[in-house]
Parts: sequence; structure tokens; C-alpha cells
Amino acid sequence: MPGLKRKVRHVAQIIDGKQVAAEVKRDVTERVQRLRERGIVPGLALVLVGDDPSSASYVRSKRRLATDLGLNAMVHELPVAIQELDLVQFIGRLNEDDSVDAVLVQLPLPSHLHADRVLAAISPEKDVDGLHPANLGRASQGKPPVWPCTAAGIVRLLDFANVPIAGQTAVVVGRSRLVGWPTAQLLLSRGATVVQCHRQTVNLSSYTRQADVLVVAAGVPHLIGREHVRPATVVIDVGMNRVDGRLLGDVDFEQVAPLVSAITPVPGGVGPMTVAMLVANAVSLCEQRRGKRG
Ligand code: ADP
Repeated sequence: MPGLKRKVRHVAQIIDGKQVAAEVKRDVTERVQRLRERGIVPGLALVLVGDDPSSASYVRSKRRLATDLGLNAMVHELPVAIQELDLVQFIGRLNEDDSVDAVLVQLPLPSHLHADRVLAAISPEKDVDGLHPANLGRASQGKPPVWPCTAAGIVRLLDFANVPIAGQTAVVVGRSRLVGWPTAQLLLSRGATVVQCHRQTVNLSSYTRQADVLVVAAGVPHLIGREHVRPATVVIDVGMNRVDGRLLGDVDFEQVAPLVSAITPVPGGVGPMTVAMLVANAVSLCEQRRGKRG
């Protein structure tokens, strides 16, 4: 293809999520081994309400990885028509069960259930997704028991790639409770100057072009193109958009990669990190609840 050679001459660092996830998994395996030597098997309870196929498949992959890394992971499948009070009581039993260190309620929930009330029923010390209001409050102070998995995975990728955070300008596109907001808080707690953009932001590129670190979690395929970046930018693409059977990021990789200093691919960037960080979070909660040594 004419022109291709010229395009690939600039070599952006491709941050390989699979490689970093493998490192996280090795680290988790060692920590689980140390716990097992003390007779402790970290317990992860995964609560799946209803039979939405993609939720079921996410929960299965979480259970599979947790089991592979030596945790005791259990999936609790509850009927789609469950009453909120029954679900809250079910979570209450998991809170009281000493063999359970971490509880995850797979989102989204069926529409008759109020996610905020259900998440608030999880004991904050077993809240593996970091979404309990008390933990969101602690996150705003920079010190939650665990950071939500995707935010934690993003920062792990930056650390792996030796990207400085303190004193840098970080621009986060997206403000969702699950991804955008916690990522902005985590970067802030690491000393970045953080700008948070969202749907109502006017002139997005005027902000993104100031970014040393640009995190994009908008759920809009190829939202970010060449006009949004500059050569010093490190781009983290959280997008996973299915378009015509293809998985597309929020960043137009082909346009942007030749223009920036480093970038995560989709797939193979943030995606593999998220489940690995979930299991790492479960182990962290286990260590915190049962004391790191004995
Ligand atoms: P996710 O779970 O990946 O964070 P959500 O759909 O929950 O996805 O949230 C999408 C976020 O992206 C919202 O905060 C929204 O304001 C932001 N967003 C959506 N479209 C745009 C856009 N065109 N420009 C900037 N931000 C956007």
C-alpha cells in the first residue's frame, strides 16, 4: 500500500495490556499462595441477577480467572424477577459469611432493581468494585480500600510504561461512576492535574490537546482522532464498541497512533487489565480483612 511505509516510521509505544495483565496475575498468584500458607483461601462471591448473556459471560470470565489464580470463586445466579429486599438480604448473608472476602454484583441490574440501593447493601470492606457510597467517599479522599478495577488497571498500565503522573496534565473523557469518575480521582490522588470532559463539554479537542495523559472512556467509537492529540500525549483507550462485528475503541488508533508518544490498542489494552485487577482487588480485600500477616 503506498504511503504505509511513511505512516509507520513514527513509532509510538504500544502499551500491551496482555503483558501487564500477566504481570498482575503472577503477583496475585504469589499473594494467594502466601494466604494459603496461613490456611486462608480468598473467597469471591459473584452475584448474577437474571440471564443477560453478556453479563453471564462477564461473570463466567471473572470466575474462571479467579479460580485459575487460586481463589474460591462462586457464582450466585438469582432469578430476574427477584425482589429488591430479597436481593439485599442475600447480599447480607454474603456480608456475614466469613469465607467470603469480596462481593461483586454484576451490573446492569434488571430495571425494577435500584442499583444504588443494591450496591449500598454490600459491606464496604467486601466491596470489590469499589462502588459502595462509603468507598466512593473514601476515593474522593484518595484512600479507598480498593480502586474500581478499570481505574486501577489504567494506572497500572501507565506505571508499567513508566509514564509520569504527578505534575502532569491528565484529561479524562467520560464521567461514569464505573470508569471516568474513579479514574479521574485516582489520577488526582497520584498528583496529576485533572480535567474531566463529558457529553456536555464544548470544544473537546481544546482540552484533549493539553493532555500529557489522555484517558478516553466515552463509549463512542472513534471519538478521538488526529485533531485531539499532540506528540507528547499518552493515550489510554477504554472504549470497547461492537460495530459490525468488530471491536472498536473510542480512539481512532490508525489516525492517532502515528502522532502520539504511547497508546493502548483495542483489543489488548485496557480490556485484559480489568478482570485481572478485579481478582487483585479481591485478594487485597482479603488481606485487609484478615490482616496481612497472621
Ligand atoms: P463507561 O462505562 O465506559 O464509562 P458510560 O456510557 O457509562 O460508559 O459513560 C459514558 C461517558 O462518556 C459519560 O460520562 C458521557 O458524558 C461521556 N461522553 C459520551 N459522549 C461523549 C462525547 N461525545 N464527548 C465527550 N464525552 C462523552
